[in-house]
Amino acid sequence: MRHVHAHSTHRPPIDHLFAALFGRREASPVARTHRFGHDDAAETETGDDVLAEFRAQARDLHERIVHEHGVFVAEFLGATGSGKTTLVERLIERAPADERIGVIVGDVAGDDDASRYRDHGVAVTNVTTGKECHLDPGLIEDALADFDLHALDTLYVENVGNMVCPADFPLGAQLRVLVVSTTEGDDVVRKHPLLFQACDAAVVNKADLADAVGADIDRMAADVADVAPGMDLFRTSARDGDGVEPLASFLDGVRAGGHDHHGHPHGADEHLG
Ligand code: MG
Repeated sequence: MRHVHAHSTHRPPIDHLFAALFGRREASPVARTHRFGHDDAAETETGDDVLAEFRAQARDLHERIVHEHGVFVAEFLGATGSGKTTLVERLIERAPADERIGVIVGDVAGDDDASRYRDHGVAVTNVTTGKECHLDPGLIEDALADFDLHALDTLYVENVGNMVCPADFPLGAQLRVLVVSTTEGDDVVRKHPLLFQACDAAVVNKADLADAVGADIDRMAADVADVAPGMDLFRTSARDGDGVEPLASFLDGVRAGGHDHHGHPHGADEHLG
C-alpha cells in the first residue's frame, strides 16, 4: 500500500516546500509513467495492477465515506478555467445553513481555489499535486485525515484541471460531474469522449459566453448525447448562477436516493434551466 502525503495547509510548511520542489514523495510506478502518457503505463502488467489497486482503494474509500459515514460525495472534473470552483461555490451558497460541507481541492500548485472555498466558511483541504495531473485515492485518503467524517454531510472533491488523466482514477465519489465550458471551443466534447464516459453527469458552463466566443452550445449538447448516451447534462452560467438550480436539484436527488449513481444507467438527458 502506498503512503503519500497530501500537502494539506494544516500540515507543517516543510511539506509545502517539499511538494514545491519534488512533487509527491512517493509516486506509484503507474503514476510515474503516467506523466509521460497513458499508453505505456496502461499496457504493461504493472500498470494494470496498479490501476486495479487504485480502483480497490477507491471502493474502500466509497464504502467508508458514503456507506459507513453517510457523507454525500461528488467529484468535479474538467479543464483549468472550465468553472469547476465557481460552480461548487454556487452549490455551497445555496446549501441549507445547517449542511456541513467539506471540500478537497486538487491543484498542481498554489491555494487560490482553497482560499476561495475557505471564504465560504466550509472545511477545506488543499492538495497540491506537483507534477501529477490528477488526484488519486491515496491523496484523498490522506486528505481525509483533516476531516471529521462524523461531522460532515457533504464532501465536494475538485480534481486537478485536466481532461485526460483523471479518467482512470475514480476517487470513491457517488458521482463524477464533468464540467466543460463554451470557451474551450465547441469541439471540446468530441475531443474527450473517454472522460465523458468515465463520468456520470456533464455541465456545459459559460453558456452566457457562447455567442461571444462563437461556440455552438447545441452542438456541444448533441456531442455529449453522442459520446455518452443518456448522460445527464446541464447548461450553466456559473458566475451569475444561471442554470445551477437544476444541477443542485439533480445532486439532491442522488443524495436522497441513497444509492450510488455511478454504474446505474438513467433515462434522463438534458436539464434546461
Ligand atoms: Mg478550480
